[in-house]
Amino acid sequence: MKASDYSNEQLDQRMRSAGLRPSSARIHVLRYLEKNRNHPTADRIYKALRPDLPSLSRASVYNSLAALERSGLVRPLTLDGCELRYDAFVEDHGHFRCERCGAIHDFPLAHSEAADLCPDGFLARRKDVLVWGLCPSCLEESAESANEKQS
Ligand SMILES: [Zn+2]
Ligand SMILES: [Zn+2]
Repeated sequence: MKASDYSNEQLDQRMRSAGLRPSSARIHVLRYLEKNRNHPTADRIYKALRPDLPSLSRASVYNSLAALERSGLVRPLTLDGCELRYDAFVEDHGHFRCERCGAIHDFPLAHSEAADLCPDGFLARRKDVLVWGLCPSCLEESAESANEKQS
């Protein structure tokens, strides 16, 4: 996405076309999620925005997230046992969770998959795909430490 896609007017426009009144808190929360594709928790969003917005309350972050979720602009993400996180990428996509550093990466999924996995007679509306393992940088680190042990 281009930097201009994060402008207030752009975000304002997106909210209006989703039928949502663009409040200042909602715009800040959505922009944060668009810029930080690391699936933050509500608390992390609050702590990141607070220094620039001293009047922002924790409750208004939660309320903004709930409103954005209802309008389909953000997606909540529940990864087995992890706290609730939020994603501004609302197309179906898979998540890769690194067991070592805990980072969550997005990866694309073929659109037909949800329907393909669904038994006959059921209507698939969305799917969650979660893959666990090691991310490239942790993989490199573990290869390096294995080499050190050998030498
Ligand atoms: Zn990692
Ligand atoms: Zn995601």
